[in-house]
Amino acid sequence: FESKLPKVGTTIFTVMSQLAAEHKAINLGQGFPDFNPSADLLDQVVKAMKDGHNQYPPMAGIPLLRNEISTKMKAMYGHYYDPDTEVTVTSGASEALMASIMAFVKPGDEVVVIEPFYDLYIPAIELAGGLPVIVSMQPPTESNPLYQVDWQKVRAAVTTKTRMLIINFPHNPTGINLHESDLDALELIVDETGILVLSDEVYEHIVFDGKQHQSLARREALAANSIVISSFGKTYHTTGWKVGYCCAPSALSIEIRKVHQFMVFTVSSPMQVALAHYMKDPAPYLELSRFYQQKRDRLTRGLAKTRFKPMPSQGTFFLLADYSQISNLPEAEFARKLTVQHGVGVIPVAAFYGRPNADESNHQLVRFCFAKQDETLDAALDKLAMV
Ligand code: PMP
Ligand code: GLN
Repeated sequence: FESKLPKVGTTIFTVMSQLAAEHKAINLGQGFPDFNPSADLLDQVVKAMKDGHNQYPPMAGIPLLRNEISTKMKAMYGHYYDPDTEVTVTSGASEALMASIMAFVKPGDEVVVIEPFYDLYIPAIELAGGLPVIVSMQPPTESNPLYQVDWQKVRAAVTTKTRMLIINFPHNPTGINLHESDLDALELIVDETGILVLSDEVYEHIVFDGKQHQSLARREALAANSIVISSFGKTYHTTGWKVGYCCAPSALSIEIRKVHQFMVFTVSSPMQVALAHYMKDPAPYLELSRFYQQKRDRLTRGLAKTRFKPMPSQGTFFLLADYSQISNLPEAEFARKLTVQHGVGVIPVAAFYGRPNADESNHQLVRFCFAKQDETLDAALDKLAMV
């Protein structure tokens, strides 16, 4: 048979986590916390199960949880999403992304993706028969240590064949955020082209240095043309629960639900009930940025004492570090070597590029995840100091 995804192998996160486990390395690669969610949230799950929430919940998600999501979106970003018709609970952000792409991308449609990009987007577009159009960010330079999006390049990539633009801020893997001027630029693009924007905002609650997340839901004109996606995995340290959601105008949500109902039908009911109760208190997500900023600073300070050069991270639980003082190996080889020989698992940033082996995708950068206990970060730093 002919593979539908001939160029796709196993996702880099699985590959690097397996390698780390095999070699008993400290895993700062794949993005997941090495600590438990709050005991209160866990108690809520047990309670929900004992209370009988063990059968199919409604297809679009339990009303209680959709209400809480709607309330949060309004409180944080000012846009009201109708919980009945505009909020859909999904099996992680992954399913929200896949269902949205499947719902709107037709064979031959172009989809603009900004590189580096999360590895799900391109295969999802290709499964739908779409054609990815890749717009590269400006990589970091001596004078500007942050990756940068050139919105004029994004605008120039939009043609009459473009169905969708996919964006992801706070950005995995570079840790860059959107600013108000970026929302201005996006608003212009949407206004001129009417393009649909798929906004992957899974790190919405992890934004550092007193800044605020610039959700597309902050601008009415953007909200009207966007699907805004988030994940409880990142927000409540529950990546293994696979619960996320998407918010979109009802005409879009209807189409997304058509796919969602046949991909998974619905999402684990005790988890939804527990999350709905837990979400009533905004404190846990409002405190998350401060919680992770302390970890970002700990890893950054530690790396600064090694031959790695940490780069600034404005959000997410990732930061990039330059290893050019240590090695001139390409990123994938260096990441393997660091895992196998030095006992610290990381992700090569080139894995987020369309051509991971090409010279222009290799900037001697690896990605570290700092969603770890302080002791784990310190133990990894001890090893990294010897590299
Ligand atoms: N988008 C981005 C940018 C991510 O980093 C991840 C996560 N790991 C996902 C989507 C998928 O999220 P989930 O685990 O909720 O499916
Ligand atoms: N998003 C996580 C990361 O970037 C991984 C999620 C996954 O493995 N599917 O590391």
